[in-house]
Amino acid sequence: MFRTLDEADVRGKRVLVRVDLNVPVENGKVADTTRIERVAPTIREIADKGGKVILLSHFGRPKGPDPKQSLKPFAPAIAAVLKRPVAFADDCIGERAAAAVNAMKPGDVLCLENTRFHPGEERNDPAFVAQLAALGDIFVNDAFSVAHRAHASVEGIGHRLPAYAGRTMQDELEALTKVLQSPIRPLAAIVGGAKVSTKLDLLGNLLAKVDILIIGGGMANTFLAARGNSVGKSLCERDLLPTAREIMAQAKAKGREVVLPVDAVVAKTFAANAPSRVAAVDSVGSDEMILDIGPRSIDHVCSVLARVKTLVWNGPFGAFELEPFDIGTIEVAEAAAELTAAGKIITVAGGGDTVAALNAAGAAGRFTCVSTAGGAFLEWLEGKPLPGVEVLRIR
Ligand code: AMP
Repeated sequence: MFRTLDEADVRGKRVLVRVDLNVPVENGKVADTTRIERVAPTIREIADKGGKVILLSHFGRPKGPDPKQSLKPFAPAIAAVLKRPVAFADDCIGERAAAAVNAMKPGDVLCLENTRFHPGEERNDPAFVAQLAALGDIFVNDAFSVAHRAHASVEGIGHRLPAYAGRTMQDELEALTKVLQSPIRPLAAIVGGAKVSTKLDLLGNLLAKVDILIIGGGMANTFLAARGNSVGKSLCERDLLPTAREIMAQAKAKGREVVLPVDAVVAKTFAANAPSRVAAVDSVGSDEMILDIGPRSIDHVCSVLARVKTLVWNGPFGAFELEPFDIGTIEVAEAAAELTAAGKIITVAGGGDTVAALNAAGAAGRFTCVSTAGGAFLEWLEGKPLPGVEVLRIR
C-alpha cells in the first residue's frame, strides 16, 4: 500500500509535484501534450484544494544548464492544457526558485527548470535533495515512468518530505498491482520482442507468477532452436540455448504452460514487403528468417486468451515495424482488445515497442492499462522494487 492524495492536506501548502515532461520540443514548442494531459488531474486537484503546485521534472540528458533542454516552453504548454496561468522559474533550487515559490498564492502553479541541470539530481546528492526539499512542505510523485530511478527529485526528496502518489501514479500502481500481485486467474503473459538476453529477469519473475507464458518475437526463435528446430537465418541467441532449455524445464516443473509459435512467416531478407511464406516451425529453410508468427499460431494464442482472465503483455510477436510482419501482433492485439471491451479479461501492456505496436494496431485504447513507462514497467515486470514507489509506501 502507498500513500495517496486522499491522505494529503495540501491547503495553503507548497506542494512539490514530480511529473515527467520528457516529450520532444520542436521549434521551441512542445510537440506532444499527452504527458501533460496525464498529470493535469493531479495538478488541478491540488490547486483546487488550495495547494501551491510546484512542478519538478527532468528533460533530456543535459550535462549541465543547456538552453536547448530548458523546461521554459513547457510553462505555456501546461497553462494551455490546464486553462490557467503557469509561472516559470529558471532554476529548480536556490534564490531564483525560492523567490518564485515565495510569490505564489494558494492555487497557483509554478514550473521549475530542468532538475538535471544539476549533477546532484542523478546522483541523488543529499545536499541537492535538501535544496529541493527546502522549497516545499509536501512531495507528490505523479511520474511512474521515472520511478525506477533513485534520483533526487524522485526518491531522495521522498525521505525528506511527507510523500504521496499523484492520481496518475496511483492509477498505474493500482492497475499493475492488481495484475501481478492478486490477479484474477488464469493469468497469462505474452513476452515478445527481440532478444531473450534482455528479458531473462523478466522471464524468471513471470514464470513464478503466471499460469501461461506465451513467447513470441525474435526471442521465440531461441526457444524453438533450444527445442531442436532449425531456425535458418533467424535472430537467435545460440549462447542462450541452455538458458532457454532451463526456463522450459522450470516451467514444466512448476506446472506452467509455455506457448511457442507452431508456424511462422518467413522471408529471406529483413525488409518491409520482402517476399514471404508461411512455414511450420519445423520446416524453416536454412536461408530463411522468421519475422512473424503464422496464422495457426495466431489462432492458438487467441484461443489461449479466450480462456484466461488476466493478460500481461510486453514485446511484439514479430518485426512489427515492417509490413506485413506486423500482422501477428495486430491480430492478437485486436483479440485481446475485444475480450477486454467485452469485460472478459483484464489486459495490462507496456514497454516502448509494445505501446507503439498496440497503438499501430488501434488496440491500446481498449486495453485495461497501457503503461507508457518503458524502463519502470520492465523493472516492475522483473519484480524489482522501484525506488520512487518504495518511498511512497506506508510503513
Ligand atoms: P523489445 O524491445 O525487446 O521488445 O523488441 C522489440 C523489437 O523486436 C522490435 O524492433 C521488433 O522488430 C523485434 N522483433 C520482433 N520479432 C522479431 C523477429 N522475429 N526477428 C527480428 N526482430 C524481431
